[in-house]
Amino acid sequence: MLLNGTVVYNGYAFGNALVLKEEDIIINNNNINKNEIDNEINNFINSYKKTLKQLKNIRKFSLENKDRKLLFDGYILILKDKLFKKDIINLIKNELLYADSAVDKFIKKQINNIKKVDNIYIKERANDLIDISKRLIFNIKNIKLIDFNSLCDNVKKNIIIISKDLSPSQIIQFNLNVIKGFIIEDGSITSHSSIISKSLELVSLIGVNNVTNLIKNNDNIIIDGIKGNIYINPSDKIIKKFKNKYNKFNINKNNLLKLKDLPSITYDGFNMKLYANVGNNKDINNIFKYGAEGIGLYRTEFLFMDRNSFPDENEQFSYYRKAVKYIKGNLVTIRTVDLGGDKFLSYMNFPKENVPFLGWRSIRIYKDKKDILHTQLRAILRASFFGKIRILFPMIISMEEVYFLKKEIDYVKNNLVKENINFDENIKIGAMIETPSAAIICGHLAEELDFFSIGTNDLTQFVLAVDRNNLKVSHLYNSLCPSILNLIKYIVNTVHEKNKKIGICGELASNLNCIKLLLGLGLDELSMNVSFIPNVKQIIRSSYFTSCKKLADKVLDQKTNKDIENILNKSN
Ligand code: PEP
Ligand code: MG
Repeated sequence: MLLNGTVVYNGYAFGNALVLKEEDIIINNNNINKNEIDNEINNFINSYKKTLKQLKNIRKFSLENKDRKLLFDGYILILKDKLFKKDIINLIKNELLYADSAVDKFIKKQINNIKKVDNIYIKERANDLIDISKRLIFNIKNIKLIDFNSLCDNVKKNIIIISKDLSPSQIIQFNLNVIKGFIIEDGSITSHSSIISKSLELVSLIGVNNVTNLIKNNDNIIIDGIKGNIYINPSDKIIKKFKNKYNKFNINKNNLLKLKDLPSITYDGFNMKLYANVGNNKDINNIFKYGAEGIGLYRTEFLFMDRNSFPDENEQFSYYRKAVKYIKGNLVTIRTVDLGGDKFLSYMNFPKENVPFLGWRSIRIYKDKKDILHTQLRAILRASFFGKIRILFPMIISMEEVYFLKKEIDYVKNNLVKENINFDENIKIGAMIETPSAAIICGHLAEELDFFSIGTNDLTQFVLAVDRNNLKVSHLYNSLCPSILNLIKYIVNTVHEKNKKIGICGELASNLNCIKLLLGLGLDELSMNVSFIPNVKQIIRSSYFTSCKKLADKVLDQKTNKDIENILNKSN
């Protein structure tokens, strides 16, 4: 039998299914008698202490990974919030609730509050609260939470976890010696669980309908994490076929790492720069392992998440200087904080908006909150003294915005001069081309700015009017369509006419099926998740620029997505 899902981290995984079905929690909604209050408070306090201890243990386990540590710091902070404990105890006392019912009521109220803001990032915060509540209630009822470490003790075979959903705190406990992959029914690419599975390099599929009923414990499973397919109890022939694919995939992966110090240049001498998209220290630490030439997109908003307040100037400065120093004279492109849309902060108020992606987001926030912009610009400029930094602004739609941002940079620079603080006076300033408006006026933009990066993730959703996070219309979301590709060609030509550089930093840059096309379209640089760089470099090093240009001409003549897909499939 064959099922299908969305790939989070690619590769192949083999193993026996371990289907997780946690006990349903039945909350005791009866009222207690007054003489039971102390007992229930004790139950809650004991569970609270146990939960805190469990979370601290998991956090210790994840110390080597800063992102994961931050996530569990977040959980612990939620628990340690004074009101958290007090409000639950008050519910037991005043409303005569059992401890489990008080926890349930309190957490549901919190979740309702944050769900009023309709966006994926906030929904993920709700998942964190559900995770905490589950732990507290299981501990109140003395139900053992699934412990992935002991679950896998003495297991000799490989395991594929099958579940409705997996919380970050569960994934983090995976014993990677035996757990080789997971498949879940829910999930989104932007969830913390997905982010953690990528950083663990764990083959995983999400959005597989009804998988917990279709797969039985111990079923033999193959995850084809290239195509997103799942094989259940496959024949020997299929197993053999995929073992071969797996071996080739690994050999290829290791061989490709040998390319890390070689230039990304075509046979006929065209040099396409390959940069890394980063959002945390681990990504930065991987830059040389995978052979990136620098950082093409530093998504700084990730530094602002999973914490309780804005990082101040010095903290930001130390992040940016660390990146610059680590990558030893190579380029670091720092994108100013791109909040809103689907990226929110627990400590900053965002208005409830019908369409947050078109709302108060990104550089639009800076006008109302200049201190956010000034603090970040000061930190970036100070760090620019220690290496090669360029500043990238997201979500530009007009020249007015460019004039505003340049004026603010001048203001910050003047203050630094007055304070005798060093910075790179010739720091380059660029814009993301990720709105249709920026694409149309890129000629004007290129007269004022130094470089450009096409954000195909947003550009595709805005040009096609298809929400990039909506699974229901995901079949319509395709960057390799005639309108986007012709638009990219227009942007490249227009920006080149003004002698400026243009790259792509959206997911399209790491789509292996279209690297030759991107070469042929004339892009100067591609920026992507570091682990894709070896594959992309290999394609570039085995291409002729002249043939890629012919391929691009042919693709641009096509009228349908299918025609383009057919040509690209044949070109590889
Ligand atoms: C993009 O929109 O393509 C992009 C790179 O930015 P983000 O994915 O962070 O919105
Ligand atoms: Mg974007």
